Amino acid sequence: MSPPATYKAPLRELRFVLNDLLGIDEEMKALRLPEPLVREDIDALMEDMAAFAEEVLAPLNQSADREGCTWRDGEVATPGGFKAAYDMFRGKGWAGLGAAIEHGGRAWPTVLTHLVTELIGSANHSWLMYHSISRGGYECIRANGTPAQQAAYVPHLASGAWTSSMCITEREAGTDVGLLRTVAVPQPDGSYRLTGLKRMVTAAEHDLADNIVHLVLARIEDAPEGARGLSLFIVPRHLPGAAERNGVRCEGLEDKMGIRGTPTCWLRLDGARGELLNTAGNGLVAMFVMMNIARLATGMQGVNQAEAAYQLARDHARTRLQGRGFGGARVPEPRPAADPLIVHADVRRMLLVQKAWTEGSRALAYWLALQVDRSKLHPEPSVRREADELVSLLTPVLKAFATDNGYASTTLAQQVMGGWGYLDDSGVHQYLRDVRVGQIYEGANGIQGQDLLGRKILGDGGARLRRFLDVVHQVLEKNEAHPVLQPWVAQTRTLCVRLDALARQLIARAPSHPNQVGASGHSCLRIVGVLALAWQWIGMASIAQRRIDVQQSDAFDVAKVATARFYFAHLFPEVEQHLLVAAQDDDAVMALDADFF
Ligand SMILES: Cc1cc2nc3c(=O)[nH]c(=O)nc-3n(C[C@H](O)[C@H](O)[C@H](O)COP(=O)(O)OP(=O)(O)OC[C@H]3O[C@@H](n4cnc5c(N)ncnc54)[C@H](O)[C@@H]3O)c2cc1C
Repeated sequence: MSPPATYKAPLRELRFVLNDLLGIDEEMKALRLPEPLVREDIDALMEDMAAFAEEVLAPLNQSADREGCTWRDGEVATPGGFKAAYDMFRGKGWAGLGAAIEHGGRAWPTVLTHLVTELIGSANHSWLMYHSISRGGYECIRANGTPAQQAAYVPHLASGAWTSSMCITEREAGTDVGLLRTVAVPQPDGSYRLTGLKRMVTAAEHDLADNIVHLVLARIEDAPEGARGLSLFIVPRHLPGAAERNGVRCEGLEDKMGIRGTPTCWLRLDGARGELLNTAGNGLVAMFVMMNIARLATGMQGVNQAEAAYQLARDHARTRLQGRGFGGARVPEPRPAADPLIVHADVRRMLLVQKAWTEGSRALAYWLALQVDRSKLHPEPSVRREADELVSLLTPVLKAFATDNGYASTTLAQQVMGGWGYLDDSGVHQYLRDVRVGQIYEGANGIQGQDLLGRKILGDGGARLRRFLDVVHQVLEKNEAHPVLQPWVAQTRTLCVRLDALARQLIARAPSHPNQVGASGHSCLRIVGVLALAWQWIGMASIAQRRIDVQQSDAFDVAKVATARFYFAHLFPEVEQHLLVAAQDDDAVMALDADFF
């Protein structure tokens, strides 16, 4: 039997990203925050949250996976320990970390609330989901609600006393939400009665909170077909102030592959009373507040599961003795009968892929979260506008690239552990099962590729992409004279030129090739993802290498530069294939008649 899977918060890594790479002190000073935030505050929070993640949540991860959630007569019991942990979390005021001060929150910016998504998510993905969805619900009502709706719901969501759920999917309506059938009938008092069956709704019923505020996408009776006819409704489990339940009930739970500590619910609306949020027909626009937050958080889930799986694989590779290495990686004398796995080049390759993807994607995720803050809180309109464009371009990239790589990384972690990783008690296959959903929900990853190429690149004639390339060039220019960094800068510069040319080619061709976006979207997303990580790796290696140059470095800096080197040697070349594939017209994927598959 292996020891239970453990998780250690990567605090040095997080300090490096926030302090050294992003310069968080200066960035916080530049934002219009209600209360000043300094490094010491951030550090204290990080350490406290790391302890909570390691000591309270990580020990519940495997037991929750085994126990799952239990449905009984419409009520759902969460796994043992979840409720106590939730009460602790609320008691620390972390449910409202990102909520406005006037709602009882602490108004911390997104870049710092991302610490919750990373640390808590690595320790226990299932547990994180309850809070994560509620964050989106809070922001959605805050952005779209009337003053009365805000007063009724928002402070309860901010405190964590209530949670929320996002009810879009139905049996017939997945990606194509316009097919949904839930209907809302207007009532004389201005409210609505909703009827329908929602499927796969995360945390739509549970025992952690006093109330659950469902945000339900539905069609008002007689509204037009399709997505344009959709409206968004607030449908609470208990109407504010009422003891009895509203007409909304969990009919059962989906049996599923992972995140078993989170209930994925069938939710029956049976004449449930709801309030319109935003205006009629604006449901998707209103829902996108929640969806965009969820996409960034999902990208981070790819990182946090990969980090936890990597830690297991690395520790296993250090202690498992098999075979003799060929030298190079030192083993202390006297050598045991066999060397640890970590001496073998192929095992090192697998670990380095995980390390390079995870650290690169983490850096991108925090940078992007900072752009969200700049887009809202920076005093300068031009800075806000530019940040908003970058967020819009790179949100689908982070969501899909980090979750695809997160899944591939956890598979590699399992591979490093051999047959032991396939056994139940290794813990690693739980990460693999848990991370997998990130590629599917919040818009499946294929849809993210189409969003990137269709809306974000072709949609504005490549303007946002060129803006991003300018941002990349700023980092390249600072580093092109350094002998260690120069080859990586050159590789990245060439990729920028080739990507720009590809975008122009696709912009010209797409009008006459209706399937071009679908055929090239995935490859375009991989190219932009590899480029974004190359840019982050140059930024990180630049800091570490300059400390090495002046002999003020330690093993952490040496590891950063070595991992950057691996990234450019082994992972960056992936773009060669995608540049070729993305440039093909859509014939190759459309030629085969559907009957011949
Ligand atoms: C664990 C879990 C939790 C979930 N939580 C929630 C929740 O809280 N709330 C909620 O509303 N939903 C939730 N979902 C549902 C989830 O959002 C959907 O599964 C997802 O949107 C995809 O819809 P679908 O499953 O119907 O797949 P489909 O829409 O049938 O898609 C299947 C495949 O076809 C592709 N595809 C579909 N349409 C197109 C197109 N036009 N062009 C190109 N490719 C296309 C997709 O990319 C995908 O790969 C959850 C799902 C799971 C598994």
